[in-house]
Amino acid sequence: MAASLFCVGAGETMRFLTVSDEIVPSIYSLNIKQRFGTIQSVLSCGDLPYYYLEFIVTMLGVPLYYIYGNHDTIEHSAGGETLTGARGCTLIEDRVIMQEGLLIGGLGGSIRYNNDDAPQYSEQQMLMRVWRMTPQLLLNKVRHGRHIDILMTHAPPLGIHNGPSRPHKGFKALLMFMERFQPRYLIHGHIHRSYGFSPVTETRYRDTLIVNTAGHRLLGIADAETPTLLDGKAVGERIAGPSASTDNS
Ligand SMILES: [Zn+2]
Repeated sequence: MAASLFCVGAGETMRFLTVSDEIVPSIYSLNIKQRFGTIQSVLSCGDLPYYYLEFIVTMLGVPLYYIYGNHDTIEHSAGGETLTGARGCTLIEDRVIMQEGLLIGGLGGSIRYNNDDAPQYSEQQMLMRVWRMTPQLLLNKVRHGRHIDILMTHAPPLGIHNGPSRPHKGFKALLMFMERFQPRYLIHGHIHRSYGFSPVTETRYRDTLIVNTAGHRLLGIADAETPTLLDGKAVGERIAGPSASTDNS
């Protein structure tokens, strides 16, 4: 799969590799350093095995931040060891960290669709998680002049890149999050491109560019107020608001 490159100008400050949901052969390769050696940080939006994240962080030698997908539970190694997290990687569920001057937060998991003991949340529970993060976001606004730069989620916001079935429904609370806290980016997974739910993988909503990273993407963030180009095309060509047409549940 060819990487989608977000083109930025001379003011580029950070290059991210974003991953989720699918193991990408060009990443899980001994050539990863040649292909992605200029990456400064890795963001994982869930549903990837820990060994894959550990491979990436070991081979690239850069910070890797991750959140949970709805399929992420305790894993067991081949030797029978219980694994509760990806070694050498940093879980940023329900908190915001500062990485190279950018404020990055995480709200993983999907909408609750069965009784499995997995990262699934009702709409109300996701709203509560947003409220619990709010004091930190408000403090960021006072200290840094903005609440958050990148919000990592597993599920998409309601009506944006959604699937037709309940497990692939987005969260309304994430729409509220974008309206209230204006992240520059919301990076999500969960919606595999092979599902064919939506050919659109980038959508602008208010001040936020929403990017579906299922598989992998390359993200260059310029030290500018708004992103200008991606995949060589103007962002405006792909702008679409939330739509109920992709969500039948
Ligand atoms: Zn998922």
